Amino acid sequence: MKLQGMPSQAPCTSRAIIPAMKKIPDTLQRFMFENAPIRGELVHLESSWRAVLERHDYPDVLRNLMGELSAAAVLLAATLKLQGSLVLQIQGKGPIKLLVVECSGAGDLQLRATAKWSGDLVQGSLAELVGEGLFVITLDPKDGKQVYQGIVELEGKSVAEILENYMARSEQLETRLWLAADGHCAAGMLLQKLPEQMEKPGQPDKPGQDADAWQRAALLADTLKPEELLHESAQTLIHRLYHEDDMRLFDAQAVTFHCSCSRQSVGQMLKMLGRDEIHGILDERDAIEVFCEFCNQRYEFDRIDAELMFVEAVVVPGSEVRH
Ligand SMILES: [Zn+2]
Repeated sequence: MKLQGMPSQAPCTSRAIIPAMKKIPDTLQRFMFENAPIRGELVHLESSWRAVLERHDYPDVLRNLMGELSAAAVLLAATLKLQGSLVLQIQGKGPIKLLVVECSGAGDLQLRATAKWSGDLVQGSLAELVGEGLFVITLDPKDGKQVYQGIVELEGKSVAEILENYMARSEQLETRLWLAADGHCAAGMLLQKLPEQMEKPGQPDKPGQDADAWQRAALLADTLKPEELLHESAQTLIHRLYHEDDMRLFDAQAVTFHCSCSRQSVGQMLKMLGRDEIHGILDERDAIEVFCEFCNQRYEFDRIDAELMFVEAVVVPGSEVRH
């Protein structure tokens, strides 16, 4: 291998040169194989991932799992024609109790994530860290339509495997995922074999050929090292893996960190505790303090705020009910 632009007398080889860390924007890149019913996506999270990490101090081993789940959530949210949000949860009985990532749907990829754990976490397998557990996927259309929730037992040695197993069962779409995360970025790639009806019209029936193309695409992606996934742009990775294929790249979509919490939503949650409970707490302290688990935003409710919380529900007989 020869590096372009290096003087020929330079004593170093390409392996000795460590490229300066490139800044890659937080994006989701969708692509398609022109001659096979396979679609794919690559996601790179840097600023949005650091925004998650700045808000809480997560142990490294938990952080990496959370980063992988975050990358996966963006990849899946982008495959769904969903205007609301997708929530992925891993619930465990081991030292890691909960990993939650929420990503808003197709048009507007906004991410938030949080976790719960106990004690000092040491390096271990996913099974050791999470223990017996559940994988929960929630699709919330946020437009009054029904919320969909799928719950399955945790099955898989990695976050990618858990999701692949879930997708194989529920979506019945062959899906492969490659995920990686560290303290700077989180990244992932998804390949999905499209069902026959989504194939382009006019294409001859060629199941054998399609299966070969799918296997080959996945085998090439298996050669990706986590460092490459984390530090190379989508264009570079697609070119590196599939330069022999005819590829179509769509416009990249931005991904941002955003927490949807508000004083109103926290107030609603407190209200559900009931008047007696709220007053009980306020008998012991001046105000109720609530921190958002996702973004660590602090909300304070004093006695007057608490009164107002319940006043809204009072309806004067004969008057119009307003909310
Ligand atoms: Zn928040």
